[in-house]
Amino acid sequence: AASSGRPAVRTTCPYCGVGCGVLATLDGQGGALIAGDPEHPANFGRLCSKGSALGETLGLETRLLHPMAREGDGPLLRIGWGTALDRIASAFRDTIDRHGPDSVALYLSGQLLTEDYYAANKLAKGFLGTANVDTNSRLCMASSVAGHRRAFGSDTVPGCYEDLDEADLVVLVGSNAAWCHPVLFRRIEAARARRGTRVVVIDPRRTATGDEADLFLPVRAGMDSIVFSGLLVRLAEHGALDDAYIAAHTSGFEATLAAARELAPDVATAARAAGVEAEALEEFYRLFERTERVVTCYSQGVNQSAQGTDKVNAIINCHLATGRIGRPGMGPFSLTGQPNAMGGREVGGLANQLAAHMDFSPGSVDRVGRFWQAPHMATREGLKAVALFDAIAAGKVKALWVMGTNPAVSLPRADGVREALRGLDFLAVSDNVAANDTLGCRPHLVLPALAWGEKDGTVTNSERRISRQRAFLSPPGEAKADWWAIAQVGKRLGHAAAFKWRSAAEVFREHAALSAFENGGTRDFDLSGLAGLDDAAFDALAPVQWPVRGAGESKRFFAEGGFYTSDRKACFVPPRRPELARATSEAYPFLLNTGRIRDQWHTMTRSGLSPRLGAHLPVPFAEINAEDAARLGITDGAMVRVASAHGALAVEARLAAGQPRGTVFVPIHWSEATSSCGRLGALVAGDTDPASGQPEAKATPVTLVPV
Ligand code: SF4
Repeated sequence: AASSGRPAVRTTCPYCGVGCGVLATLDGQGGALIAGDPEHPANFGRLCSKGSALGETLGLETRLLHPMAREGDGPLLRIGWGTALDRIASAFRDTIDRHGPDSVALYLSGQLLTEDYYAANKLAKGFLGTANVDTNSRLCMASSVAGHRRAFGSDTVPGCYEDLDEADLVVLVGSNAAWCHPVLFRRIEAARARRGTRVVVIDPRRTATGDEADLFLPVRAGMDSIVFSGLLVRLAEHGALDDAYIAAHTSGFEATLAAARELAPDVATAARAAGVEAEALEEFYRLFERTERVVTCYSQGVNQSAQGTDKVNAIINCHLATGRIGRPGMGPFSLTGQPNAMGGREVGGLANQLAAHMDFSPGSVDRVGRFWQAPHMATREGLKAVALFDAIAAGKVKALWVMGTNPAVSLPRADGVREALRGLDFLAVSDNVAANDTLGCRPHLVLPALAWGEKDGTVTNSERRISRQRAFLSPPGEAKADWWAIAQVGKRLGHAAAFKWRSAAEVFREHAALSAFENGGTRDFDLSGLAGLDDAAFDALAPVQWPVRGAGESKRFFAEGGFYTSDRKACFVPPRRPELARATSEAYPFLLNTGRIRDQWHTMTRSGLSPRLGAHLPVPFAEINAEDAARLGITDGAMVRVASAHGALAVEARLAAGQPRGTVFVPIHWSEATSSCGRLGALVAGDTDPASGQPEAKATPVTLVPV
């Protein structure tokens, strides 16, 4: 990256939750040379294919460069920022005056920087008086949040990436880490070569990750928690529990073990329910029992489920029962999908949380309200993503501001979402691309946002590490930071003092100070050690893991208990019998599984710009079991129609040995803006987990028909 002779700027990759450090060096021709940052503790210089190709995605051809608005049914026309901000402020004010604060909402993104997220939450929850602020992170890791909070009393990831270097057994559940968290997977492979770490993969579908495993368990869709209930029983029967840890630091063990015994009294029963071979399950149980240093990583196969929170807790139960948590090489580990899903969680990006990991208890509402000096504090949880868009469709939410996300593609029942967006009294969209399916939903106002390379602020990765995203390109056209636009609206609504920030550093300092405000060690999230950073120190901030209270911090939580429940003990959560939200039927005999491919990101608005990335898997497809395909007369490469009760799309069939019979896998990335195949989200039913509100995205009944 230093070959241009210019200084490299240290920043962070905008794609997945690994949060790799990137060195960007201007090439003198409007672009930048990209390399991995050898000093960043997430990646030590490595980048995957997506990160390496970032330099190919910096062009301005597809950018939104000016605010635009439409009158009635007319076209979007260029307007000035002042007029645009006036319109948002007056639309929100008028809607609240007529219909109350819960008639307005913001829908955010794990792509936003922490400072953007903080500003949006402050505006809504403190000054508009609504907690209707949710984010596409609801589709990504809300079940992990809910599982953490049920078990630990807080949304705390107990471990860190070093645990993957120091584990002797890594269990990957519902995770295609080789494609979706590639740099972390390289770390696991390095540990394998160095210390013989064993890898177990539990996934209905044999992915690139399953191909690399020492042991692959093709669990039946939705039955992951049975595997871990059976493991708990097995550990108890073999005297492999940490009785001292259970007694000193947990509650509810006996009831949980009894419930697990009901579901999975022995290995044979567990194997039958999970749909795996009893010998293979026995081998996994033996490995877990005999290996002290175990990390169980889980991702969207666990989270994107109508029982996702139960799955998370079934995993955590086994780590609590063995005391394998918060010590080197041990612990449950949620692999976050998005670059800043964690940062969003920290500032209350979810509708059921306040800033700094606080909830809506009266004490927390009071505390945040006094810190913000907020006149209109929201006092109860807002609508979670799927419920929010249902409320829009029902006409209850009338004004919406979408930032940095594409809900017309990514949300379940996406055709209904598109109609709901078109029916809003007022829709504002902040984005940096000029065209996507959401921008096709006739917004009244669009605002040009800064993109990666232009933005300045912070993100938090899966191991709680806060890193700087630094600007190395000039803002194009009239693009502005999202936090700035939010602050301008706050000022126009009469709250100049609360939104007087002049830089991302000022927003960050306020966020850090709030985390420390009347904290007293009662909350996990604490950045008090960063609240006093001056601008130069913020600019130079090296990647740092929270908590950041002062010297001598541990990078792990809970080895000695100290949970954030009222009695400081972790809670075992009794398992319930897993059941898919929707069964297959004669009309819809296949289960649709969705996910990512190696070289694309979300709806391809950035990764789709790279020819190198596009060459990997260039067209949308459905992976189908070869026997199913033969029975239906579907041949490899032919077009197939995949249809659910909610929508349909036509894609190329790929016959795949790793695809279980009775199931089909379709990647999430393509949309109407990028292909003529249709939008996968339109097929997904949208049944949600009762604890987390996260929608099921791995098991929608569909039919397959050759086209
Ligand atoms: Fe970026 Fe994730 Fe790849 Fe790292 S592993 S370079 S964060 S996409």
